[in-house]
Amino acid sequence: MTSDPTPIPFVDLHSLHQPIQAELDAAVAQVLERGDFILGQAVREFETAFAQACGVAHGIGVACGTDAIALGLQACGIGPGDEVIVPANTFIATVIGVLHADAIPVLVDCDPQTALMDLDAVEQAITPRTRAVLPVHLYGQLVSPQKLREIATSHNLILFEDAAQAHLGQRDGETAGSVGMAAAFSFYPSKNLGTAGNGGIVVTNHAEVAERVRSLRNYGAPKKYVHVYRGTNSRLDTLQGTILNVKLPHLAHWNQQRNQAGQTYDRLLAPLADQGITPMRNDCGSGHVYHLYVIRVNNPQCDRDRLSNALEKQGIQTGIHYPIPCHLQPAYRNLGYSAGDFPVSEALSEQILSLPMYPGITDADIERVVYALKTELSALT
Ligand SMILES: *Cc1c(COP(=O)(O)O)cnc(C)c1O
Repeated sequence: MTSDPTPIPFVDLHSLHQPIQAELDAAVAQVLERGDFILGQAVREFETAFAQACGVAHGIGVACGTDAIALGLQACGIGPGDEVIVPANTFIATVIGVLHADAIPVLVDCDPQTALMDLDAVEQAITPRTRAVLPVHLYGQLVSPQKLREIATSHNLILFEDAAQAHLGQRDGETAGSVGMAAAFSFYPSKNLGTAGNGGIVVTNHAEVAERVRSLRNYGAPKKYVHVYRGTNSRLDTLQGTILNVKLPHLAHWNQQRNQAGQTYDRLLAPLADQGITPMRNDCGSGHVYHLYVIRVNNPQCDRDRLSNALEKQGIQTGIHYPIPCHLQPAYRNLGYSAGDFPVSEALSEQILSLPMYPGITDADIERVVYALKTELSALT
């Protein structure tokens, strides 16, 4: 083995924050000084700025991305008995959000090349009870806005985006969060835009939806002590809002760096295609914001886990997004699915591997990751 032991982390928040540390400290100190901890000035500023960045009229900060889905769906009028179509290959929070809106998640398979929701499967899953389609812009790339709208319009369905992995991602000139009736984002620390804890937002062009989320997140009260809706307590903390205000101006640049890194990976990995290593296809070009860089390992002599172990030995961290598709998660057996229902998602769950990806990852780091993959594969023959 070579003598370069510097680990390559899966994500690197420390390097991201270091250049803006003084600004972050000052912003946090200002909130502590001002004391407007609940729905304070920084939250209002961030809601306006983030909605504007997405190209929509309203933003409503909430406690996390899961709540953004649940409260956003509720505000769009989704409720008991309503079927909401979601991909089986997503983070479980998508499903939890639907269930917390008291609606019924109806799962569909994904496309093997992109791992995004299969839109033909969406059309086949539509029933008289279907009220909404909930695409997930997975790994940082958007599901086709035009095709989504065609489906929603022709079947009279609400379109609600789970954009938790695609802050400012674009496709065909459209921005994540501006495609449907409303959209949910998460600011979990490792997302493309992250807080120092939990946070989320609902964005929408519909004033009524915005007003309803504003009430729902704040005990269902449009006016203090007047509880018009069965709401909850789910607000974006002012301390988190102020951190997001410092970070938001850097987001476009960070996304550009992720996209560059994605292109570099694509180029360096291309020669490994005949050994069964294929990156997820990028259908968004420069609009792909690579929350994750995911490859598929389809080689009868070498499975995904062997490759991830080999990388680990060289100090290279990887991830799997996700190892168990939603329909096979133990807690959700009562949804009525079983193994074999979504063959593409099931196959991917055994073959996908997420490589280190973060703004500031160097070409040299990426070369080392690809070199490590090559070395392991060539040892087989
Ligand atoms: C992170 C994530 C969420 C949930 O966000 P939280 O802030 O952790 O609640 C929802 N959907 C997807 C696709 C995510 O990646």
